[in-house]
Amino acid sequence: MDLIFLGTSAGTPTRARNVSATALLAAQGKHWCLVDCGEGTQQQVLRSPLSLSDLDAIFITHVHGDHCFGLPGLLGSAGMAGRTRPLRLVGPAALGPWLRLTLEMSHSWLPFALEFEAVEGLSACAVGEWQVSTAELSHRVPSWAYVFTERHPEPRLNLERLAEEGIPRGPLWGELAHGREVLWQGRALRAADYWQAGRAAQRVVICGDNDRPELLAQACLSAQVLVHEATYTQAVLTAGKQAYGHSSALQVARFAAEAGLPNLVLTHFSPRFQAQPGRGPAIDEIAAEAASVYSGQLHLAQDLAHYHLGRDGRLLRRAPQA
Ligand SMILES: [Zn+2]
Repeated sequence: MDLIFLGTSAGTPTRARNVSATALLAAQGKHWCLVDCGEGTQQQVLRSPLSLSDLDAIFITHVHGDHCFGLPGLLGSAGMAGRTRPLRLVGPAALGPWLRLTLEMSHSWLPFALEFEAVEGLSACAVGEWQVSTAELSHRVPSWAYVFTERHPEPRLNLERLAEEGIPRGPLWGELAHGREVLWQGRALRAADYWQAGRAAQRVVICGDNDRPELLAQACLSAQVLVHEATYTQAVLTAGKQAYGHSSALQVARFAAEAGLPNLVLTHFSPRFQAQPGRGPAIDEIAAEAASVYSGQLHLAQDLAHYHLGRDGRLLRRAPQA
C-alpha cells in the first residue's frame, strides 16, 4: 500500500504546496483511489507516476472548495484522454447537483459513467482491493474520514476448507486461486469463499478537516496509518483564538499517541507555515510540536512525496524516481 500526496496546503495553494488531494495506491497493479480533489489536482497527477485511466474511485471529505474544486477539470481531462471505464465518486450529497450543473453548463460530456454515491448513510463499500467505511468528523460543514481496509491481504487458498468439502486438488484449485468462480457437482464455488488472508489487513484512515481527532477512536482501531490535517500549531491556534473547525498538530499527535497508531502523517498546513524560518512561523514547529507527544513514525506530508507501508507496518518515504 502506497500513498502519494498531491496537495498538502490548507485553503489556498502556495508555491510549494497545492490544495488537498491524496492518492492511495493498491499493493498490486496500478489502481488507485483519490481522496479529495482540490483545484489543480489534475496537474499534480501529471507530475506523479499516476494515470487517470487507472483511477478507481474518488472520495470527497467535505464540500469546501479546496477539497473539491478540481473535480470538473479532472473528470473532463479523464474523458478527453479516452476513459470509458465507469468511475465511482463518493462525497456529500450536495456535490452531486453542483457537479452535474457545472458539467452541463460547460457542455462537458463524459464518455464514461460517473457513479455518484452520497456519503451520508453510506455504511461501507468495496472498491478494488479495499473495503471502505466512513467516520463522521467535526468541522464547519459536515466532514468525513474514509477508512480503507484491505479485503484480501495476500490471499492464499484455504486448504483446510477445500479438503473438508472434498474439492479435488487440481485445475479446480487453480481456478479458485485465480479468483474465478467454478462449477463443481452442480454447485457454484465463489473464489473468495476459499481464500484466507496471508497476513493481517492493512488499514489506512484518511481524514477531512476536523477539530475533534478523538472522533476517530473507533475508525483507528487496528489501523496502521492516520492521515490527518494539522492546520496550525497550538501556539498559532491559541493566539488566533479561533480554530475555524481545524486541529493543531498537538491535538492530532496526542490522539495518535493515545490510540497507539504506529504511523501518523500530518497534512493540510496553513500557508503561513514556511519551509524556511523567516517572517512567518516555520513548518518545523508543526513537526516539533507533534514529536513532543508522539513517538511513532511521524511524517509531514509534502506535495508529490511517495510513502510505502511495508509488511513490518512502518510507513517510509520512497526515494524520488529519476
Ligand atoms: Zn480544507
